[in-house]
Amino acid sequence: MNKVLIIGAGGVSNVVVHKCAAVPEVFGEIVLASRTKSKCDKIAADVKKRLNREVITEALDADKVEETVALINKHQPKLVINVALPYQDLAIMDACLETGVDYLDTANYEPKDEAKFEYKWQWAYQDKYKEAGLMALLGSGFDPGVTNMFCAYAQKHLFDEIHNIDIVDCNGGDHGQAFATNFNPEINIREITANGRYWEQGEWKTTEPLSVKQDFNFPGVGVRKMYLMYHEEMESLCQNIKGLNRIRFWMTFGEEYLTHLRVIQNLGLDRIDEVDYKGQKVVPLEFLKQLLPDPGSLAENYTGKTSIGCVIEGIKDGKKIRKFIYNNCDHAETFKEVGSQAVSYTTGVPAMIGAKMILTGKWKQAGVYNMEQLDPDAFMEDLKTYGLPWHVEEWSSSVE
Ligand code: NDP
Repeated sequence: MNKVLIIGAGGVSNVVVHKCAAVPEVFGEIVLASRTKSKCDKIAADVKKRLNREVITEALDADKVEETVALINKHQPKLVINVALPYQDLAIMDACLETGVDYLDTANYEPKDEAKFEYKWQWAYQDKYKEAGLMALLGSGFDPGVTNMFCAYAQKHLFDEIHNIDIVDCNGGDHGQAFATNFNPEINIREITANGRYWEQGEWKTTEPLSVKQDFNFPGVGVRKMYLMYHEEMESLCQNIKGLNRIRFWMTFGEEYLTHLRVIQNLGLDRIDEVDYKGQKVVPLEFLKQLLPDPGSLAENYTGKTSIGCVIEGIKDGKKIRKFIYNNCDHAETFKEVGSQAVSYTTGVPAMIGAKMILTGKWKQAGVYNMEQLDPDAFMEDLKTYGLPWHVEEWSSSVE
């Protein structure tokens, strides 16, 4: 029977645990471990209530490789699903190597003292994982994750050549708070305040943070202003989608959100260095996280939908074509199903499906992989089965 160890007990984890528990034929036993054990217990109690399944809970500081090694040795899982924070990625990958267990995550490694996320640190594990006969699946969330799969599916089935990709991400939901982030505030604010970056003709081009914007008509949501940002899936897609000319990533933000963000920056509350406060060392962004609503707590009164997809241009049968592959996900529906908002849901469902692909042997192979390097068909089918149906449309207007 397959046993999994899920690390982290936040918004995304709540979805992963519920979704794994709902597929007992693949996820025979579930162990949930995180820094604060009471959060694991809360998720386990809800899973028991909704699905009548037991989840074993444990306390774990995953920054400490030896603690994770001991926990893996105690429970002997086949796979570790890392839905803690990007800071823990390398420590958990090390623990998996030491114990001979496969690894999966949803966000690439970021050093805590440098707001910089890149795959180079995790790609450096390629040889070690290959030699150990283990698999590490990177970025099995929505973006990265499903967006990579949309591109792989387009490459396999819809296009002979792909030239341009625009990943467009809209949360058209309303949580009723003046300012809140939809996933971990620290990670989210670090990401949004960074320079924009896109890839064109083999080169990275940099833009000032949130300086390039345009309107886009999002299916299921309507017209919203979206801003060019750097996002991690571009780093692997520009290597793995053959013949690509340009790839960009866009995300929508409301005026209210941007005004709050400007104030946070002007006050220095987004700083990630230590500040001395009455003899105590305080990192302003970590302190701000304590003050902001817990993303999980937004779920109850959230209305509206997310609308995320890929506008892809290229050639099919000698003709230029443009397709949009996307998913809509409704906050109120996901709350009803698993008690989470749609941003956590759209991340947690693909994490479960990626884990299922490894455990059932469909994707299992030795080495470190980004999603688009694997066959998209079974994964794309599972998205429909497990709550994230997707659509392909001819798309008339190009992204400027
Ligand atoms: P949360 O902040 O809600 O949850 C993070 C969890 O990790 C918390 O339970 C936290 O514990 C735990 N944790 C933090 N540090 C450690 C540690 N050292 N050891 C053990 N547990 C630890 O985050 P989210 O659920 O919103 O996000 C989870 C992950 O998903 C993040 O990596 C995020 O970047 C990623 N993500 C990916 C997306 C995608 O589409 N690919 C989209 C959204 C998120 P505690 O409560 O004690 O702090």
